[in-house]
Formats: sequence, C-alpha cells, structure tokens
Amino acid sequence: MEFAEFAVLCEQLEALAGRLEMRDLVASALPTLNEVELPVFVRFVQGKVFPDWSPEKLGVGPMLLYEAAAYVAGRKKADVVRLVNETGDAGLAIERLLARRQQSAFFDEALSLAEVHALLVRVAGASGVQSQQAKMRLLRQGFGAMTPQEARYFARLVLAELRIGIGEGTVRDAIALAFGMDVKYVEHAQQALNDLGEVALLARKGEDALSSVWIHPFRPVRMMLAQQGTIAEQLADYGPVAVEYKYDGSRIQFHRVGKVCRIWSRRLEEVTHALPEIVEALRAATDRDVILDGEVVAIGADGRPLPFQTVLRRFRRKHGVAAAREAIALVPRMFDCLYADGETLLDRPLSERRHVLEGLLTDHLAPQKVLGDEGEIRAVYEQALRDGHEGVMLKLPDSPYTPGARGRAWVKIKPEVETLDLAVIGAEWGEGRRAKHFGSYQLAVQDRGKLLSVGRVATGITDEQLGDLHTLFKDLVMAESGNSVTFEPHVVFEVGYSEIQKSPNYASGYALRFPRFVRVRDDKGIDEIESLGSIETRYRRQATQNGAGRD
Ligand code: AMP
Repeated sequence: MEFAEFAVLCEQLEALAGRLEMRDLVASALPTLNEVELPVFVRFVQGKVFPDWSPEKLGVGPMLLYEAAAYVAGRKKADVVRLVNETGDAGLAIERLLARRQQSAFFDEALSLAEVHALLVRVAGASGVQSQQAKMRLLRQGFGAMTPQEARYFARLVLAELRIGIGEGTVRDAIALAFGMDVKYVEHAQQALNDLGEVALLARKGEDALSSVWIHPFRPVRMMLAQQGTIAEQLADYGPVAVEYKYDGSRIQFHRVGKVCRIWSRRLEEVTHALPEIVEALRAATDRDVILDGEVVAIGADGRPLPFQTVLRRFRRKHGVAAAREAIALVPRMFDCLYADGETLLDRPLSERRHVLEGLLTDHLAPQKVLGDEGEIRAVYEQALRDGHEGVMLKLPDSPYTPGARGRAWVKIKPEVETLDLAVIGAEWGEGRRAKHFGSYQLAVQDRGKLLSVGRVATGITDEQLGDLHTLFKDLVMAESGNSVTFEPHVVFEVGYSEIQKSPNYASGYALRFPRFVRVRDDKGIDEIESLGSIETRYRRQATQNGAGRD
C-alpha cells in the first residue's frame, strides 16, 4: 500500500461519523495488505507507530516537526506556528504550508506505507548527542517525498494523534469482520498480545492461531482498573467481597522467568532499573515463573506510607538510583497473579488467583479478607485511613482478570475528595517573579475523542513545582499566541475544586470554582481523564446536595 492511499483512507474515515461505517471501511482495506503492511496499517490507523508496551519512542516534539516541515516548504518555523494557531491542528497547518511550496515533491519517489514505517523506526532509533539533527533530517526526507495530504497524516502520526476518531474497539471489530472471525477470539488475542497489529496477522491465519496465544512473561499485560462505588451497593448486588487496602503508591507488573526479573508501570513503561530493591524483594519472595500485579509504596521513617508523588519520582529516575534508594524505602504490596509456571490465570476467578498467589509468594502479599458485613468492611476502611492509606478496594471473588477494563469487579472506596483528572491543553506565561515559567494551565475534559476546556488552574503550584512543570511542558508546545501557548495533550493534572459551575466561557459548558493543583498524574494517560458525562453527573449531584442548581 502506498502511504498516499493510507492518507486518502484516513480522510474518508475522518468524514464518517458512524462507528459501523468506520469499521466497514477499515475492514475493507485489511485483506489487501501484505504481511509487513498489515500490522503497520493497524497501528497507524490508531495513531500509533509502535505497540503501547514497546520501548521504542519517536522522541519528536512539535517544534522539531514544525521545523522539518518549514524547511521543506521553504518557510520559517514561525509560519507553521501561525498556521497551527489558525487551524488548531498541526496536520492541517503543515498540509496547507506544503500546498503552497514553490517546488513540488518528486512524486515518482512516492513512499509506501512500509517505507514510512521504516523511516519512523529510524527516527526512533536516532540517539546520542546528534539525535535531534538526525531526527530532523529523517523528517525532512519524509515531508520532502510527500503530497500535502500525506504530510497531514504523517505529521499527526508523529504527534500520536491522528484525529480520525477511531477507537481500539472499532479496529478490533474491523479485524474480526475482515477475516471472518468471532470478535471474542480477536479480543482474547488482544488481551494476550496487547498489540492489534500482531493480532491482525494471527486473525488472517485463523481461529486456532488467535485462540492459541496466551499471555507470557516479558510482554506486559494491560492493568485491570477500578471504578468508584459504595460498600452498600456492592454487597447488595454481589454479596461478600474481597477487601484489600487501597495503597497510595504506584502500580507495577512484575515478570519473572528463571533468574530474570522485569517490572512495568501502569502505562507499560519498563521501570526495572529504577526499582532495584523491588526486583530484589520479589526475587527473594518467589522462585516461580510468574506475572504478578501489585502496588509499590514508599514508607517513611515512622513506618507510615509517604505520598504517592514520592514513589513516582523514583519511577522516573534514570540516574542516581542508588542514592535515591538510600533516601526512601520502597516496598511492594502484591495483590494478583496473572500467570504462573507456563499457565495463564486471567480467566480464573479472583479467589483461585489469590490462592495461587498465596502459595507462591512468601512475602509482600497485600492482605485480603472476604467480608459480607457492611460494618466489618467499614471498620477495615477506617483502619486503612488511620494507617495512612487511600481507602479500600472491594473485589468480586468470582471475577476474572480483565486487562485494561474498568468495571464493578473492582470498586474503590475512598473519602469524598472533590478532585478531577484533567488534560492540560495549554498555558499562559506567568508574570513578575514567575515570568520565566508557565503561570496558569488550561484544563480539559474528554467527550467522544474531543478535548473540551473547563478553565484554568494556577493556585496550589509551589515555586519549585513551577520549575518542574515548566521542564515537563516545554517540549510539548504546539503553538504560541501572545501570552498563551497550546500544548500537545499529554499530561494529566489532578485538580481540586469547590464547585462545578455552568459557564459559557469554556467549550465544555462548565467551569471549576476555586481550582487547585493537586498533582501530576503521570501514571495516567489522556484517555483516562474525566469525561464530560461525569462532570455533568457531578454537577447534578452537587445541585441536589445544595438543594437547588445554580445556573
Ligand atoms: P485510581 O488510580 O484512583 O483509579 O485507582 C486504581 C489504582 O489503585 C490502581 O491502578 C492501583 O495502582 C491502586 N491500588 C492500590 N491498592 C490497590 C489494590 N489493593 N488493588 C488494586 N489496585 C490498587
């Protein structure tokens, strides 16, 4: 497949609103692709160059991309930035810029899908001191051989946001349809491989190929997630539940085969080297080949847990790990077992997985009690809070482990703190003492693949954090206009507030009263932020609590 054909298909998808039509269009393209193209196409159409768990990352920020496009168009980077400001989209801006270039590209050298992929692999592979120049040369080479329309999707792909509104579920269904498979087999293989590109190759081979893949060590599995609920509802609907503390740390997945141990974070980044004491602790606690799920907690000198931010700092650390290890004691609390000695346990009920876990781990188990009495559960909850934990988790003893899914099988119970996880989509430069840093940050909720603004936050950020945040955001700037900048949406803030108000000033139709920065949620991706629906629910709930809605 030529990359130009891929671009045409993306444009067609962009114009479609219905999920089924999108699925059909994607499905019609799949059978025509060869072995190399099929996985690439499936990832590209989801706006991914590599599978989520892959350590390969492009390492290209918006400014580098703009500079490459500007060079090919014979213009200045500032021209791209201006167009991004006008269009609100880097892809469209670059397309327009290239459409106006004097000299047309050498279209007889049109790039194939596989060649674009190979080029991006080289971009990701460029490392060392000269890496930015090397990446730039490759991007220029790419833009140089592309039509403006191809450049639109190439640019968006590099920024990991294709903006064609297609979700993983639609691509999964398209694979099933294209190769005449029951969707449950595709789903099964996706749980195991966590890469629809590879799954598509298996689907083409047939049902047996799909159903015979299982999770295996050193291929991280997406973590099962929890939703909010209440003790009374869980008991009424499901009877006794497995109660565990909800630790305020960071999620890990531990894999071991023989002597080799590796660890992944909730976002499936490998963190083995950042957490040597966790590797040692778990290596000593089991000698079996396993995949375990758990939380890493930081413990202070008084034996009480330290805030979650302390743990995250350790996850990000690349240098000085030994010194950091001296300063903070990290311990694992393991609560699930996904795989043991060649066998997957995903489909087994939690009660059985727990039994296996208790049998193979001599230490570091997160305590669990199965309880059916509301008062007893409440007592555990209160003990958890007294011990400095976040609350409790209530898990259904007969539920399977469902990777990546959030449902009532795991429910979190914590004190009513009014905070929201929101995407950071822009900022304003600070004033006076804070003039060298971004001062206030623009926040957004999600609504069917779109980010809608809900206002800004400036309060609650210390001077030290201001510097850290600036470093975090400076390479995400997509456009600048006057005093404000737009970011490539990447970072999630947890923000406290006193009330949600209706507001015509923001795209979401809502604003936060007294917003306050709580922390960066680097364990969460943009797809995990609050939805407009949940803001509406909170607004309504608050209106009932206050006796009357305030419009
Ligand atoms: P939240 O991040 O608020 O959606 O809560 C879910 C997170 O709680 C998980 O991703 C884990 O990192 C964390 N957690 C803490 N203790 C547990 C536990 N016992 N079982 C499952 N998750 C836990």
